[in-house]
Amino acid sequence: MQLGPLRNAYLEALGIDRWVPRDAPPDPANVAVTSAPVAASAPVPAIRQADVSPGIIPAGDWAGLRQQVAGCTACELCKTRTQTVFGVGNTSADWLIIGEAPGAEEDRQGEPFVGRAGQLLNAMLLAIGLPRETVFIANILKCRPPGNRDPKPEEVSRCLPFLSAQIALLKPKIILAVGRIAAQNLLATDAPLARLRGKLHHFGEANTPLVITYHPAYLLRTPSDKRKAWEDLKFARATYMRAAGAN
Ligand code: URA
Repeated sequence: MQLGPLRNAYLEALGIDRWVPRDAPPDPANVAVTSAPVAASAPVPAIRQADVSPGIIPAGDWAGLRQQVAGCTACELCKTRTQTVFGVGNTSADWLIIGEAPGAEEDRQGEPFVGRAGQLLNAMLLAIGLPRETVFIANILKCRPPGNRDPKPEEVSRCLPFLSAQIALLKPKIILAVGRIAAQNLLATDAPLARLRGKLHHFGEANTPLVITYHPAYLLRTPSDKRKAWEDLKFARATYMRAAGAN
């Protein structure tokens, strides 16, 4: 795909200046997307249902799973939610984007990443040639933690079987985890995000490539890290191209 002009438009939306080397060719818009240095990490085991929630046996089809999520009362968050936020997008997508948990606007609308962070996420995805509707977007938690606090470990463990089932149904070619909470829970680690990004991880029995980047809400607060996020996105795209080419 020709990314040049589109990429530039969205880099602008991301607030990232393009650096043009003095000896650059006449049309720097067409510079190829390259990958960041790769330091592979050991594959992470799939989230095993028995490990995380004895009560929930997720359905093996999208409609059944959606229904189960909508009726879930496995943790306290069911008492404060307006509605569950299942996930959205193309159920045949190659790309799965995983965030943390619904915020106030997502709780109201029933769709992930619809607030300001969602707009930035859309711009980040478009910068690597991915309109929002071409990917699938889900969260670690399907219900909003009140006051946007961090998810509690027991909430995560009750909810993860749903995400695990979504991954099994979607069979993505690549997972992009945005933010510390998503990264740490998928990788079962408490390592800081700075140590997790810039590396290729793998997830689950399918050994799905997993790339970590900053959460768009963090980037809204810390625009100086947008350039690093752009490196992550280019790395994810290069990883995807390799994975897709290998199939
Ligand atoms: N932040 C997330 O991690 N997920 C959402 O759906 C919205 C904001």
